[in-house]
Amino acid sequence: MSVWSEMPMGPPDPILGLTDAFNKDTDPRKVSLGVGAYRGDDGKPFVLNSVRKAEKLVLDKSLNHEYAGIAGVPEFTKLSLAFAYGKDSPALKENRVAGVQTLSGTGACRVMGELLARFRGKGSAIYVPNPTWGNHIPIMQNAGLEVKKYRYFNPETVGLDFEGLLSDVQAAADESVFLLHACAHNPTGIDPTQDQWAELSKLMKTKRHTAFFDCAYQGFASGDAEHDAWAIRRFVADGHCIALAQSFAKNFGLYGERIGALSVVCNDQEEAARVGSQLKIVIRPMYSNPPVYGARLVTEILSDDALSKEWSGECKAMADRIMAMRSGLRGHLEGLKSTRSWEHITDQIGMFCYTGLTQEEVLKIREDSHIYFTNDGRISMAGLTTSNVEYVAESIFAVTG
Ligand code: PLP
Repeated sequence: MSVWSEMPMGPPDPILGLTDAFNKDTDPRKVSLGVGAYRGDDGKPFVLNSVRKAEKLVLDKSLNHEYAGIAGVPEFTKLSLAFAYGKDSPALKENRVAGVQTLSGTGACRVMGELLARFRGKGSAIYVPNPTWGNHIPIMQNAGLEVKKYRYFNPETVGLDFEGLLSDVQAAADESVFLLHACAHNPTGIDPTQDQWAELSKLMKTKRHTAFFDCAYQGFASGDAEHDAWAIRRFVADGHCIALAQSFAKNFGLYGERIGALSVVCNDQEEAARVGSQLKIVIRPMYSNPPVYGARLVTEILSDDALSKEWSGECKAMADRIMAMRSGLRGHLEGLKSTRSWEHITDQIGMFCYTGLTQEEVLKIREDSHIYFTNDGRISMAGLTTSNVEYVAESIFAVTG
């Protein structure tokens, strides 16, 4: 008998469980459209050339393996913030942004959850879109916050429920915290337009709400990192003291290196120093300090103009491949004379496509055609290739008509 003897078996993670089922499937036609990691057109994991070059540069420096500070590698954080807020950002120039390196985007969200629970109180609310990235909910709950949802997706139009979103923002108590996806909303692939962002910013200002942007796809969404940062920069320009989680998993293809950043825009330098001190107090007992390798790679790329340019081209190529797969999937479905509208496939952006397929249809496609994606109808566009897109379209058509 030990502490562990009575521990019940937990349910498998829904996405990782899907990968297990896919791996066990022996049908040669099988296709995996579950996991959100980019694949090349050959269906294999992809390492960017700019990252390969950065690896060599880091290796040639023969650096030591000392700990980073609690806040990580300072040069990385500086570059990461300039990447998101813009090189000429007045907030950065005025030294009023507190920033730390984090364990990718997940770690940034978790640290922010802790900070909010500590200073706004356990059980205080955070509003997240309905739906949102599945992990947001337990991350925030585990930090001690109450997760409330605001309207986002309209199943009828397979588009944004902007009116619903605005009325939920309006109805929330003044000074609430709203989590917003900066670009390439996961799982729907539906983003507000620039005009809608501007309207939301204005309303949130009136309500004195705090925007917490989760930015996991900068550059990966449209192929242009500046464009994908538009909402973040607009909110800051409108005078919001936003918080921001950044991930370099998808856009730099550094998934397993766990490299990201968390920052908070403050009113002045002195406030930023106070917030920065509290971020470190949250981090120290959680994991002490973050790993250095991914930070070194991103630093090499973002501090070198030629390498940055090369990265930008490669990131655009990934985004372009995804967009080509969107057109391909929609084109094949339309070519089959599908009775449904598939316009939303090309209207959406980023890694994921919210197909509008029902759970019943998803399960039938899995059973009949051995194509694996989540029960909510979300497919990872990165799993589509020129060799399987037609088969996937035919399989969707077979159940939807
Ligand atoms: N936030 C969103 C919206 C995401 O889609 C993801 C990954 O899928 C993440 C955060 C976190 O990713 P990571 O922790 O790998 O940076």
